[in-house]
Amino acid sequence: MSLDAKIPQGPLAEKWSKHKFNLKLVNPSNKRKYDIIVVGTGLAGASAAASLAELGYNVKAFCFQDSSRRAHSIAAQGGINAAKNYQNDGDSVYRLFYDTIKGGDYRAREGNVYRLAEVSVNIIDQCVAQGVPFAREYGGLLDNRSFGGSQVSRTFYARGQTGQQLLLGAYSALNRQIHLGKVKMYTRTEMLDVVKIDGHAKGIVTRNLKTGEIETHAGHAVLLATGGYGNVFYLSTNAIGSNVTAAWRAHKRGAFFANPCYTQIHPTCIPVTGDHQSKLTLMSESLRNDGRVWAPKTVEIAQKLQKREIAASDVKEDDRDYFLERKYPSFGNLVPRDVASRNAKEMSDEGKGVGTTGLAVYLDFAEAIQRLGEDTVRAKYGNLFDMYLQITDENPYKQPMRIYPAVHYTMGGLWVDYNLSTNVPGLYAMGECNFSDHGANRLGASALMQGLSDGYFVIPYTLGDYLATIGPKKVDTSHPAFEQTKQDVIAYNNKLLALKGNKTVVEYHRELGHIMWEYCGMARTEEGLIKAKAMIKELKADFWKNAIVTGENDEINAALERAGRVADFIELGELMIDDALMRRESCGGHFRLESQTEEGEALRDDENFAFVAAWEFKGENQEEELHKEELVFENVKLTQRSYK
Ligand SMILES: Cc1cc2nc3c(=O)[nH]c(=O)nc-3n(C[C@H](O)[C@H](O)[C@H](O)COP(=O)(O)OP(=O)(O)OC[C@H]3O[C@@H](n4cnc5c(N)ncnc54)[C@H](O)[C@@H]3O)c2cc1C
Repeated sequence: MSLDAKIPQGPLAEKWSKHKFNLKLVNPSNKRKYDIIVVGTGLAGASAAASLAELGYNVKAFCFQDSSRRAHSIAAQGGINAAKNYQNDGDSVYRLFYDTIKGGDYRAREGNVYRLAEVSVNIIDQCVAQGVPFAREYGGLLDNRSFGGSQVSRTFYARGQTGQQLLLGAYSALNRQIHLGKVKMYTRTEMLDVVKIDGHAKGIVTRNLKTGEIETHAGHAVLLATGGYGNVFYLSTNAIGSNVTAAWRAHKRGAFFANPCYTQIHPTCIPVTGDHQSKLTLMSESLRNDGRVWAPKTVEIAQKLQKREIAASDVKEDDRDYFLERKYPSFGNLVPRDVASRNAKEMSDEGKGVGTTGLAVYLDFAEAIQRLGEDTVRAKYGNLFDMYLQITDENPYKQPMRIYPAVHYTMGGLWVDYNLSTNVPGLYAMGECNFSDHGANRLGASALMQGLSDGYFVIPYTLGDYLATIGPKKVDTSHPAFEQTKQDVIAYNNKLLALKGNKTVVEYHRELGHIMWEYCGMARTEEGLIKAKAMIKELKADFWKNAIVTGENDEINAALERAGRVADFIELGELMIDDALMRRESCGGHFRLESQTEEGEALRDDENFAFVAAWEFKGENQEEELHKEELVFENVKLTQRSYK
């Protein structure tokens, strides 16, 4: 089967404008005849739901939190990219496009990425109009900072709370539509399946998380904006509730899952201290604007630091290795995340890691404090420094932060075409839950940009094309497919509730996380992946025999919720391993030890792997089928990435 990405023909810079013109329209008075289901009200979902309602569609929106304000998007710290060139430092739409394609190690579509860069400028205007309080310079103009993988300052921010402020903007727009009766909001409601009629998505099955009631909802289209799956690793910087269930259940109903093994490991997280932790904390990439990353030059000094015989400030300047500045003089501390992460791991592998576990390097602000003064540093990063102090009980104004890479973002997700449609007609995916724009490595500050681009500026156009094609004929839940899918969900939940073994679901999740991190994390080998595949198979069999799920369906039951999510993570884990095994090359966040340059950088194999891997579910416990979407590069030349 060949996958049609529906990238418009013509010059790169004209594709989106021409496409918008060619898309069919739904006339204003017909829009109210269509019902649209939006699952997820983080940045991608809230912006889509609000925009579609504003256009006149009837929207039903769902989230599992008690308020859409609690979506994981609220955690985003550092900023959002846009090619505004406010700094007059050489930025342009083309440069943002180029940086993003290169940053993704040439594994994303040119057409999609160019559109993202093009639309980025509108996002800032939209958010400013909503009242999002972006940081401003003394003169009142919007301020910018730099993020990894670029040599310009194009990142707009609101201190270390950019996601929160953007979400409040989208949430206000959403609430306006709720108030106007155009959006009906279902909080504490979890989507557990997609209903298909004649191959088209026509609705969903949900569980009311307060009463346990299983309900069905019909619509002319179903839009998923359900976030990423980084928690497959158990420990990640994602919110604890973030999960893959909606995307995974859609996958099992026919939607292809693309590039599942592309995971982003973020270099600046507070290091793991043991098995007692349930999540990890990010220290925003923005800190690398002023913080300098270093490790001691010798193993002897590292060991003294690990045993706490000396403090970081005791290490003389000559005994410090600012390894990113040394190896990558052009980009220095602002190399992309995959590069910074691999280098930190390398330091620890060589025995030069710090902290009691030896799994950390330093992020040092001493020079910045001397240059700018403590007050300026506090004004820029104060809340991040406070967070670090609260978690580690170490004062980063006095001692460098200890940081280590951790799972942060997933570039893989549901396969979508240029219109954000999955291969199941009527089923769309937006934001982190689709695979679209970041290739094998996402540049910092690009996820917020993509989520809002999808929700505010892409789906409002592309969805109309599909709706105009199918027409406004009423859809409701009377079709037998709704009852059948509902019964499938009830049967599956009962199977979970019947598990009365002696091992908690959390234990299985933690074990899965260990396997994924060890064998499918920052570095992967054929041998390790084969081993991991067998381990997950065993874990899955054990889960369905020995797990314990307490409580009943008809009540608040966090154990049942968790069991369903972990069962899905285990299946996803198997697919990630298969995907990583198949991809015998290193690219971006996917690093196969067998494929590296002499200098230890990721070595791609463009001849054999310049494609999107889209996997098709073939039935329980069956191997999935791989479909390849070849990537065509007409505007950029594929080169070995260099940040030197
Ligand atoms: C700590 C941290 C900091 C970050 N900082 C930045 C940054 O500075 N800049 C940047 O660009 N990116 C950043 N990112 C990445 C970015 O925050 C996310 O990629 C982005 O917010 C995802 O938005 P989303 O709308 O796709 O999903 P989310 O915000 O995760 O929203 C998912 C929504 O789906 C709902 N949902 C999920 N499953 C179901 C279901 N089965 N049924 C019903 N509802 C469901 C949830 O309730 C929620 O409403 C950061 C990420 C982390 C972890």
